[in-house]
Amino acid sequence: MDHGWIDLHTHTTASDGSLTPTQLVEAAISIGLEAVAVTDHDTADGVEEALDAGARLGIRLVTGIEISAQLEGGTLHLLGYEIDPLEEGFASGTTRLKQARIDRNPKIIRKLQDLGIPIKLEQVEAKASGGLVGRPHIAETLLELGAVTTVQEAFDKYLASDSSAYEHKFRYEPAAAFQLILGAGGIPVMAHPYQTNREGEELRRLVADLKELGLEGIEVHYSHHTPAQTVFYRKLADEFDLVQTGGTDFHGSRKKEIQLGWGKGDLRVPVELLEALDRRVARLSAI
Ligand code: AMP
Ligand code: ZN
Ligand code: FE
Ligand code: FE
Repeated sequence: MDHGWIDLHTHTTASDGSLTPTQLVEAAISIGLEAVAVTDHDTADGVEEALDAGARLGIRLVTGIEISAQLEGGTLHLLGYEIDPLEEGFASGTTRLKQARIDRNPKIIRKLQDLGIPIKLEQVEAKASGGLVGRPHIAETLLELGAVTTVQEAFDKYLASDSSAYEHKFRYEPAAAFQLILGAGGIPVMAHPYQTNREGEELRRLVADLKELGLEGIEVHYSHHTPAQTVFYRKLADEFDLVQTGGTDFHGSRKKEIQLGWGKGDLRVPVELLEALDRRVARLSAI
């Protein structure tokens, strides 16, 4: 059978990707993908343009978002697929997240200035091309200023959660993040589970707790997953009746090691996963 491939985890200029939504759609078509999802950090601002481009150029565009939720001791990113970005609660909930970034960014810049680095907020904002400003934009500016020699060094020295210029940003508790996604008719999926810093039984317990809150899927295929992680996440999906999703976390030139559709070179996400996701959407909306 001819196989179709998809990518359900990508970022655009609406957050910290380097391609505009239209360019992302064009790139997906040029490598022969059957579908692509736009999953920007904390915003669906790129979705409308991507939907237009998908319809015009002929590829299935899956609407999405990647929400950072509060989790003790690790990172919890919730992907929300097939959301309606215009739904009122979702729109106001994501506006609050945008405001949280607008509040945080000057504080990080101030800390960097206090550390003797001549960085300006305007320089950072210029990198974001009108989209939400994230730490990768700040890291890139630090690189340009010669304050660091790599983006990773910028995170390690200044921007990571235990580093000198870190500033906390408001995050929704998991229950509220699930409500945002479910309220917009979407499917909440746990992204890159290893980033929760939990594995084995501890991760299993977290998944069980999140299932109670409305978790419907788990990202099984991902650029940085080991074969053993993929196997374990698939087992969790079976045990908790979750859909399996997959994507690269493509950020364009901002994460050069990751290619759209291919991850680090060997990732392939079969279109059957999207068919299962569609069935789950239909099942939820029938309730
Ligand atoms: P933000 O939206 O400001 O929270 O930034 C999120 C982005 O920063 C994501 O694309 C992450 O991959 C990247 N990021 C977060 N922490 C680190 C880290 N310690 N090292 C490298 N990149 C990171
Ligand atoms: Zn990112
Ligand atoms: Fe993420
Ligand atoms: Fe991501």
